Amino acid sequence: MDLFEYQARDLFESHGVPVLGGAVAFTPEEAEAAAASMGGRVVVKAQVKVGGRGKAGGVKLAESAADAREKAAAILGMDIKGHTVHKVMIAQAAPIEAEYYLAILLDRANRNFLVMASVAGGMEIEEVAHKTPEKLARIGIDPNVGISKDKAREIILAGQFPVDVVDQVVEVLLKLWAAFVAEDATLMEINPLVKTSDGKVVALDGKVTLDDSADFRHPSHEDLIDHAAANPLEAAAKAKNLNYVKLDGQVGIIGNGAGLVMSTLDVVAYAGEKFGVKPANFLDIGGGASAQVMADGLGIILGDPDVRSVFVNVFGGITACDAVANGIVQALTMLGAQATKPIVVRLDGNNVIEGRRILNEAAHPLIQQLETMDGAAARAAELAAK
Ligand code: GDP
Ligand code: MN
Repeated sequence: MDLFEYQARDLFESHGVPVLGGAVAFTPEEAEAAAASMGGRVVVKAQVKVGGRGKAGGVKLAESAADAREKAAAILGMDIKGHTVHKVMIAQAAPIEAEYYLAILLDRANRNFLVMASVAGGMEIEEVAHKTPEKLARIGIDPNVGISKDKAREIILAGQFPVDVVDQVVEVLLKLWAAFVAEDATLMEINPLVKTSDGKVVALDGKVTLDDSADFRHPSHEDLIDHAAANPLEAAAKAKNLNYVKLDGQVGIIGNGAGLVMSTLDVVAYAGEKFGVKPANFLDIGGGASAQVMADGLGIILGDPDVRSVFVNVFGGITACDAVANGIVQALTMLGAQATKPIVVRLDGNNVIEGRRILNEAAHPLIQQLETMDGAAARAAELAAK
């Protein structure tokens, strides 16, 4: 889960990472009140989960509370790279003397963590990384060892930070690492980390990604979920522990195994070109799919008003085709009148003969069986176009 900047700010604050005052506002009036409580001079910042807000006009300095109200009115509702701004953060303004960069992230390729640090932070960090990579220190962290004070100093010196801020930045890195571990994050990025005119180092913008797999040990993370943004079908699927992603086509897809489902999407997209239809979703019901899981999956897909046909593509493995076929039949019984759209089934693999026989015998009016993946994809696309 990615956090909004204001949530990252709060999280940093709770772990002792130095930040400035900040409050979230949903209306220009709330923005004005928040600005007034911070003395008037503030920065109004669009809260969207995408980078480059500054360049897009989503970060504006306000000279007074009334000005903050106006700036908030201009930013609220703005579209930044496809994200509509529904809230702003009112941040205490800081006189900036220098902008640095500091980040800790999970380095999957190397199976450890990575710290990136640079004296050249700010809005051009991608450019710095690309054109002058020597200005961006990249140092791997062994998860079993962590970051000692000496290691932190080594990293900050490699990032070419000036002597007068080194001690403070080392302290920030140690705090950030403690926060990263305590919260089970996969990314904590500060850009910019700034030196203010009175020589203090503070985090002005934070980007945090939390590891959803560790949610069970962080009940507090529940409060960070952006329920407004969640697609209702995806939320319903998540509640049923289904691996579902909503797409914008008309052919509902169910398969077992992420790889098979990915290739099913490709085949349906290809077959659908002729009919002007596309896959409506990704749904992997996994290896040992029971009738209940099949019913849950079919229920979600049939609940999508965009769906006009469904393609169930199953390769029997540990769960053999006869079990899957029984699952489909039982699922349709469970769904009853909820099932209204044609369902194309392609079974192959372990015990396929028996699986096909079960479906033929059931002779459900909505089910059509095809033997090949291409044939079934073409039929499902054709049915969706009708
Ligand atoms: P991003 O563009 O989405 O990464 O948004 P940032 O929060 O990093 O803001 C972009 C830029 O706005 C920063 O690099 C700063 O130069 C500037 N900025 C942000 N907050 C303040 C502030 O409190 N005071 C001043 N003077 N500038 C700020
Ligand atoms: Mn930034």
